[in-house]
Amino acid sequence: MSSPTTPKIAVIGSGPSGCYLAQSLLRVAPDCEIAILDRLASPFGLVRYGVAADHQHTKAITRQFDRLFQHDAVRFAGGIEVGRDVSLDELRDLFDAVVIATGLSADRELGVPGAELPGVIGAGAITRALNAHPDEGAALPELGSDVVIIGGGNVALDVLRFLVKGRADYEGSDVADAALDSYLAAPAERVTLVSRSAAPDSKGDPQMLKELATLPRAVYSSPDPVAPGAAARLARVAAGRVSAISEMVAPERARFDGPEVTLRFGLIPLRVRGDRRVEAVEFAADDEVVAVPATSVITAIGFATQRDHALAALTAEGAESGRIEPGLYRTGWAKRGPRGAIPENRACARAVADEIAADLVDGSLSASSSAPGFDGLPSEVRDRAIGYEQWLRLDEHERSIAHSGRVRHKLPDHELMVAVARGATAEDPRTSSATLHQRGSQL
Ligand SMILES: Cc1cc2nc3c(=O)[nH]c(=O)nc-3n(C[C@H](O)[C@H](O)[C@H](O)COP(=O)(O)OP(=O)(O)OC[C@H]3O[C@@H](n4cnc5c(N)ncnc54)[C@H](O)[C@@H]3O)c2cc1C
Repeated sequence: MSSPTTPKIAVIGSGPSGCYLAQSLLRVAPDCEIAILDRLASPFGLVRYGVAADHQHTKAITRQFDRLFQHDAVRFAGGIEVGRDVSLDELRDLFDAVVIATGLSADRELGVPGAELPGVIGAGAITRALNAHPDEGAALPELGSDVVIIGGGNVALDVLRFLVKGRADYEGSDVADAALDSYLAAPAERVTLVSRSAAPDSKGDPQMLKELATLPRAVYSSPDPVAPGAAARLARVAAGRVSAISEMVAPERARFDGPEVTLRFGLIPLRVRGDRRVEAVEFAADDEVVAVPATSVITAIGFATQRDHALAALTAEGAESGRIEPGLYRTGWAKRGPRGAIPENRACARAVADEIAADLVDGSLSASSSAPGFDGLPSEVRDRAIGYEQWLRLDEHERSIAHSGRVRHKLPDHELMVAVARGATAEDPRTSSATLHQRGSQL
């Protein structure tokens, strides 16, 4: 029950950092009321739309966040985009504090000549399509026979795993079958993954490399050999990486069907060549230039703020403090830049919640008796908000229409997600079979 001095806090973004922030706030300021806004009708940010569909164990973190949304003092308000439906200034007038937890959704640009050629694709476009993100629909860009992945971090390894996996490897996943089918109809024949760093320093998690080594598809090789016995002299994580890569390229590893994968380390992208479309990528390697033929180039070199994002000017790349000023804060990738896995957002959110609590204690942020919080939003905004119970309806629906071997069939159309969350049924004209067919979905 809200008292006149209950701090009203708006969190923009329901990804891991927004959820962890709310969890921490409930601990350090237990009398607060929190509204978590998201532009999408579904919560969880990149847990739903970034984490690979075949890594359901990672997506299971949402069960912990479910408990958060069941808390009386927490409200989910999906389908509300800050900058479109409500401005930051309006939120700041209505809430005692606003926290930006909007992540970073644009692929970092490659920044070499030719990077704008058709066929150069950000990894985000692939990972969103495989996760049926409504901004992407189910469309997977055409990749062709020779795919070059630029980057050696975990997102690059997620993309590589997708390129070498077969249909049977997606059992128990929630992959967007339309995207998977379009790739498997004409899968890559050759894949070259190119990392700027030497193998031990490349950014990939050793566990992810090991997973690739155990997949019974794809043949790996590397002309940049890792010195035998090198692992023993390296720090633990680097040693893990080297031993996994050695396992992948070991000559005794059986030959399998699937793309031939070449792993390259220590190569720096110079330019993308092509006439009307990408044809090759040139890299600097020691004192020579290496050209790798390519029908498509997938860049997996990190993420940045979308240029036209309403809050772009307020996101940071590694800010020390979450406090922009008393009453306005940021957390997660919007604070630290595109670094760190899900658990790192918990520590980050704890620190930001502590800053908010400190501001409440020292009075630089005072719970104003007149701040109405969510109830002060215009009625048309409140009415369009998708609440947690409505999300549960959509969640249940997606599970109920999962195809055989899948745990969920995500609706790839936001209007449809909203309609189903609001209780649309097969008889509803918004969800008529013709409309659904057009939208590549079913009810
Ligand atoms: C492809 C990919 C795969 C990954 N895989 C893993 C993995 O397997 N394991 C792991 O631990 N980590 C993984 N990560 C990292 C992890 O996803 C991030 O650490 C984490 O999601 C960052 O959390 P966040 O809340 O800051 O941002 P996000 O998760 O991006 O959440 C931001 C939220 O803000 C919302 N939003 C944005 N703008 C607005 C607006 N204007 N108004 C309202 N809402 C808005 C978005 O819809 C979104 O829900 C992966 C990242 C990527 C990109």
